[in-house]
Amino acid sequence: MFETHDQWLESLEQPATLKCPKCGKDMEKVHFHRFVVDRCTGCKGLWLSAMDREYLSVVRDAETIDTGPRHVEDRSAKVKIDCPVCHTPMIRMVDHKQPHIWYESCPVCYGVFHDAGEFRDTKSHNIVDFFRDLFRQERV
Ligand SMILES: [Zn+2]
Ligand SMILES: [Zn+2]
Repeated sequence: MFETHDQWLESLEQPATLKCPKCGKDMEKVHFHRFVVDRCTGCKGLWLSAMDREYLSVVRDAETIDTGPRHVEDRSAKVKIDCPVCHTPMIRMVDHKQPHIWYESCPVCYGVFHDAGEFRDTKSHNIVDFFRDLFRQERV
């Protein structure tokens, strides 16, 4: 048995190669500094663990891992995808700052699947916010 939720998370074995939850193709390991994220060789979607996502959203140039062309989501389609790590059905989330960004999140291990182009999109928005806040502070 596990004493904490974290211990349990660590016990989840990451298979060497994840299968893309969306298109079923193999995902490749992409290295960015000390991070390793999984990118689909088919649709170029990105799989980020909760930790990766938190760090990468503030690390400079991390959006370079998101190389695919902007994916246009078919919102009428009911996409049911399972977490590639723990196989829990994932929940569709809407980015509260950018409602045009929809992504899938695992309610159990908190991993996130971003379609190609989405992570890049979130990053550019964060940077704009950062400067806006900076200028706001300077004017005070
Ligand atoms: Zn894929
Ligand atoms: Zn999961």
